[in-house]
Amino acid sequence: MADNNKRRIAVFGSTGSIGTQTLEVIEANPELFEVEILTAQTNDKLLIEQALKFHPNAVVIGDESKYDAVKTALLPTNIKVFAGENALEEVADFDTYDMMVAAIVGFAGLKPTLKAVEKGKAIALANKETLVVAGDIVMQLAVEKRVPIIPVDSEHSAIFQCLVGETRNKIEKIILTASGGPFLGKKPNFLVNVKRHHALQHPNWVMGAKITVDSATLMNKGLEMIEAKWLFNLSPDQIQVIIHPQSIIHSMVQFEDGSVKAQMGLPDMKLPIQYAMGFPHRIANKSPRIDFRKLSVLNFEEPDIKTFRNLSLASLALEKGGNLPCILNAANEIAVWAFLNNRIGFLDITAVVEKSMEKISFIEKPNLSDYFESDGEARNFAASLVKM
Ligand code: NDP
Ligand code: MG
Repeated sequence: MADNNKRRIAVFGSTGSIGTQTLEVIEANPELFEVEILTAQTNDKLLIEQALKFHPNAVVIGDESKYDAVKTALLPTNIKVFAGENALEEVADFDTYDMMVAAIVGFAGLKPTLKAVEKGKAIALANKETLVVAGDIVMQLAVEKRVPIIPVDSEHSAIFQCLVGETRNKIEKIILTASGGPFLGKKPNFLVNVKRHHALQHPNWVMGAKITVDSATLMNKGLEMIEAKWLFNLSPDQIQVIIHPQSIIHSMVQFEDGSVKAQMGLPDMKLPIQYAMGFPHRIANKSPRIDFRKLSVLNFEEPDIKTFRNLSLASLALEKGGNLPCILNAANEIAVWAFLNNRIGFLDITAVVEKSMEKISFIEKPNLSDYFESDGEARNFAASLVKM
């Protein structure tokens, strides 16, 4: 902690959906938090705006061609400016922050997050891909370094909150809720014609493009099953997915006595973000509350895994482990990118992931460099399928 007892926050991916909401939480709680590091990939304008407002010690712009623009704009300040992929790890290695909010999207978040864990920094983890790819290595290192990894993903935050005070009690299973996304109830004959703009309209949440598509294909829930396995040390048969279209119950834990705890709230990512940042304390806010008198129904149904086959592919990856989740993730990142660029159809996303999982060699006990190699191989193979 800084001398003034404020928690010094490094926001990795500050220009994204989670990043900007993290800064809103910090702005609303200046007595609790201050910004130490901000990072963006290409959005130099917003990064500059954020830096001038929050006065961090350092900023990183991933795209090196934007370095001059950021450097020039921040010249009148004493903010340090870095550029390029390696700079993310360099600033993650700083002593001067207390907590990383890991809000980069995709595999790119893995290295800086690992560096922060190695450094012994608390992690508020939004970047689920980090655990999907290398959950064994990340969690093992976190145990060694006694680093708390506090989930920001709403479902995992819900489970984490249900588990507070239950350290001695065994989990029988967790129930991950899924909104079902914009295509709930639709069949392949509809999905075959779905375009980018349809998939980007999520009924309950406003999020970055990649996770919004993942929510529409249900891959997001698949990734979350794997994320949950590592965060809560669960076996595959302890993880159940249920569709709950209202997104009021964010997830549940069932204990050995059959008792079930659920965490509820209106769908608002600032809640899990501020919970992770303030843990173990809750932070008062004025966000809208649930009015149970107006909530007429909460619905639950089984996911349609015949239509949304990504969920089955992710279950397979969860079950087999090794480098299979890493392959699934890499192929999915390429396929989603190709879909967002109108190169492949909605149903092709699943086909690309499935073919990549069949093609790339399985490694049962990968080390970190195996994960990087599998990621690269799966990306190249998936790219060859979408003709990039
Ligand atoms: P966004 O796409 O909105 O933001 C991503 C952030 O990462 C941006 O700051 C972006 O910079 C930066 N970035 C993108 N690519 C790279 C890269 N290759 N290297 C370094 N930085 C990069 O994503 P979200 O905020 O929606 O999601 C972030 C993470 O949080 C994801 O893992 C997602 O699954 C997870 N999550 C998000 C939720 C949400 O509500 N949004 C809910 C639960 C989990 P730039 O803006 O310059 O491109
Ligand atoms: Mg989620």
